[in-house]
Amino acid sequence: MAIATLLPATTAFIQRAPRMLIGAEWVEAADGQTMPLRNPATGEQLCVVPRATVDDVDRAVLAARQAFDDSPWSRTRPRERQNLLWKLADLMQRDAELLAQLECLNNGKSATVAQVMDVQLAIDFLRYMAGWATKIEGSSVEVSVPLMPDQQFHSFIRREAVGVVGAIVAWNFPLLLACWKLGPALATGCTVVLKPADETPLTALKLAELVQEAGYPDGVFNVVTGTGITAGAALTHNPRVDKLTFTGSTAVGKEIGKIAMDSMTRVTLELGGKSPTIVMADADLGSAAAGAASAIFFNQGQVCCAGSRLYVQRKHFDNVVADIAGIANAMKLGSGLDTSVDMGPLISARQQERVWRYIEMGRESGATIACGGEQFGPGYFVKPTVIVDVDQQHSLVQEEIFGPVLVAIPFDDEADALRMANDSSYGLGASIWSNDLAAVHRMIPRIKSGSVWVNCHSALDPALPFGGYKMSGVGREMGYAAIEHYTELKSVLIKL
Ligand code: NAD
Repeated sequence: MAIATLLPATTAFIQRAPRMLIGAEWVEAADGQTMPLRNPATGEQLCVVPRATVDDVDRAVLAARQAFDDSPWSRTRPRERQNLLWKLADLMQRDAELLAQLECLNNGKSATVAQVMDVQLAIDFLRYMAGWATKIEGSSVEVSVPLMPDQQFHSFIRREAVGVVGAIVAWNFPLLLACWKLGPALATGCTVVLKPADETPLTALKLAELVQEAGYPDGVFNVVTGTGITAGAALTHNPRVDKLTFTGSTAVGKEIGKIAMDSMTRVTLELGGKSPTIVMADADLGSAAAGAASAIFFNQGQVCCAGSRLYVQRKHFDNVVADIAGIANAMKLGSGLDTSVDMGPLISARQQERVWRYIEMGRESGATIACGGEQFGPGYFVKPTVIVDVDQQHSLVQEEIFGPVLVAIPFDDEADALRMANDSSYGLGASIWSNDLAAVHRMIPRIKSGSVWVNCHSALDPALPFGGYKMSGVGREMGYAAIEHYTELKSVLIKL
């Protein structure tokens, strides 16, 4: 066992009970209420953070509104927005280890993995978005205006920042998800109020410190920590918010979508998933088994696009499942600070209980637990689990479990695989494991999901839009698509 030593800065950050950033001020909740954060590896209390009130959220939105409408930020040129984003990314690079340790203590994930994945992907993404700041273009159009045949016109289309962004994110990749919102918002000139997940606000608060240090004007980025039911709902209902961007469950996303439609607030929703991993008979089966294991067990299965449904062509089904079970059985579980562990705890006792209920449901309905199917404490651990002998219509196959639980089903041919892969209310991602180029290209257009990976899974790049078909969401993050979602088009017609 090799336990990483906490940086003095990590310990100091946690011990000083971090506060929220509203405008220029680091504040407690208006009523002084706090909420405890727990270390998922031990169940022990880590620290407390403010539990924002409706009033706190309203003040944060007002600060963002004023920064957007009246501050120097509203006149910032693209080059300055680009340079500020680069500066922020550089500061995150400087503090990468600290950010990773905060993520580990707060979320349970491996600090080593958090540094090379979560933090580095967030930095890379901000640098990618910095590039867009100077490349946002409108266009000019030659118009006819049939009702005014004798007039001359000059016409152009502007792309303008959408305004105040209310961002609400989940706990599985706290920093990365926050940066997926922050990057396009700051590149386009918006201002932001971020409500991190109840469980995992620490890296968002550190990020706010770095935003200040980078030199962003006050009110451009505000962070309110608190519950979804109070702080999240207050942000959703605030009439001064121009755009809501949400990452979380489909159930909450649907509610936010309805509220947004009532006020015509712009909205993007990144929601749940139940992504299929399809292993064709001709695949490199060793790579496919390793890839399928990583597709579900990475981040303890708490990944929106986790490959949580495995479909293997029948003649290789038993072998592939046995290989994945072998990988799962060899995984070492423990604290994310231990550099030798392969899997950390789930986020909370509630999530452990939820995942456990699904495993029990499988057992009770006669499914076979091929490996795992155990939980232990005192942290929130569930062993990597593979379940077979389960019907396509079973809740285990149809519902998002959001834990290290894989359900595996054999298929007979390409059509059978496609039918089962698409038989889901979700459509976030899918992977095909095959070396048959023609079959792969036949399948790609027929899969109903926002991402399709071939011979890999959950591989993301800042340039590739990410988002869902069906119940997995509305809109896209990353790529130029994100810039479009943070801007409005304005058509201008000048009679000469
Ligand atoms: P959740 O929906 O319970 O919470 C997400 C966020 O919404 C939290 O900040 C929470 O405080 C807030 N919230 C809760 N109720 C609210 C309300 N009534 N009004 C406003 N805000 C509210 O989701 P979770 O359990 O934190 O996250 C897991 C879910 O997130 C999974 O379904 C997962 O698939 C999804 N997710 C999706 C993506 C993606 O990009 N598609 C990425 C990560 C996670």
